[in-house]
Amino acid sequence: MGDRELRRARRILVGLAAGALSGLALRALAGDAGWLEAVVRYGSYPLGQVFLRLLFLAVLPLLLTALSLGVAEIGDPRRLGRVGARTFAYTFGVSALSVAIGVTLVHFFRPGEGFGAPQREALLASLAPEAKRVVENAARSASPIDALVSIIPRNPFEAMVRAFDGDMLGVMFFALVVGFAIATIPREKTSGLVVFLEGGYAVSLRLIDMAMAFAPIGVFALVFSLTARLGLDVVGTLGRYVGVVMLGLLLQQFGVYALLVRFLVGVSPRLFYRRMAEVMTTAFSTSSSAATLPVALRVSHERLGVPRDINAFVLTIGSTANQNGTALFEGVTVLFLAQLFGVELDLAAQAKVVLLSILAGVGTAGVPGGSLPLIVVVLESVGVPGEGIAVVLGVDRILDMSRTVLNVTGDVTAAMYVASREGSLVVPVEADPPA
Ligand code: ASP
Repeated sequence: MGDRELRRARRILVGLAAGALSGLALRALAGDAGWLEAVVRYGSYPLGQVFLRLLFLAVLPLLLTALSLGVAEIGDPRRLGRVGARTFAYTFGVSALSVAIGVTLVHFFRPGEGFGAPQREALLASLAPEAKRVVENAARSASPIDALVSIIPRNPFEAMVRAFDGDMLGVMFFALVVGFAIATIPREKTSGLVVFLEGGYAVSLRLIDMAMAFAPIGVFALVFSLTARLGLDVVGTLGRYVGVVMLGLLLQQFGVYALLVRFLVGVSPRLFYRRMAEVMTTAFSTSSSAATLPVALRVSHERLGVPRDINAFVLTIGSTANQNGTALFEGVTVLFLAQLFGVELDLAAQAKVVLLSILAGVGTAGVPGGSLPLIVVVLESVGVPGEGIAVVLGVDRILDMSRTVLNVTGDVTAAMYVASREGSLVVPVEADPPA
């Protein structure tokens, strides 16, 4: 890695650690003191939001240009079909594996049992208003068949306007068909458009690069706000549930992906994780696959050797559609809440949870908390009250940060897998400094 990236990755990590430690320390010292809340409200919180918004600002143009250029470059419809089918099969297979890990752990540790009714009521009451909002949003979302049909936007600009509120798949569909059309028209007719898209792509990357220069401070502010406000108490009663989700995520992140990278792609897991450090820290601190997409695109191409066309195709689609961590989280959460509310799920209902969790991973927007409305849908489809989401809202942010790391790591492993199957993965040799 270039010195610059290495220094940046280190600085982001330092920001992350400093934010977490100082937030926790001040929380321990000051508790609910007004001045600490003021520091967060008027200082660190807006600062963190500025960083996130600077990143988000470039996501839409990046996604549009990267995906349409990626498809246009893959060109040959047969190759496109192959790349698409492999991406789809990998997404489905690995998400299924993630959910299976989560479901097994819930059965083993049974985190939802042993709660008394008063404890459950207290958990429900503390976040009831937020939960109501999530449930209302979920109720507004369309039926599965309508959702499928509306992936095709009538008005691509409208889809772009609503991209972060659930229409990202519509934007992607538009970019895909534009790319496909470019590939099938003689180049002299589209050369102007291609040059325009390439310019847009380069500018988007530059915008992200500028935002990332601010990352160490932004990440510090995001993590500080979180820990200073919540401390660790919030984990308390839900410790076993949080532990099960985290254990599942860790098994997938450092077990399953290591095996996939080693045996499906033929790359050393050590090298993989080392080069992924910047991507993983960005995902963890932003809680957003979309905001991490640009960093993932750069690292996967420059440092892990995925060719640009496959990279653009798999990673941009993956940032919304391949969310292994989210799928695992959804499966665990639904089964946990079913246990908590004493709803017996027979085998068929459990199979439904698994399938819906995988699909929810596909439909979740890559933004903080993107999976919450879909959890409500899955909960209600198996007879658990949607308001139950209130129980887990308090700990969601830390779980969100963690599952986003998997979502993005999974995307990069998918890109490496597809590239290696296409015979075009060339991992560059770098003088990696000793760990
Ligand atoms: N924050 C996640 C992501 O961006 C989505 C979610 O699970 O809420 O990947």
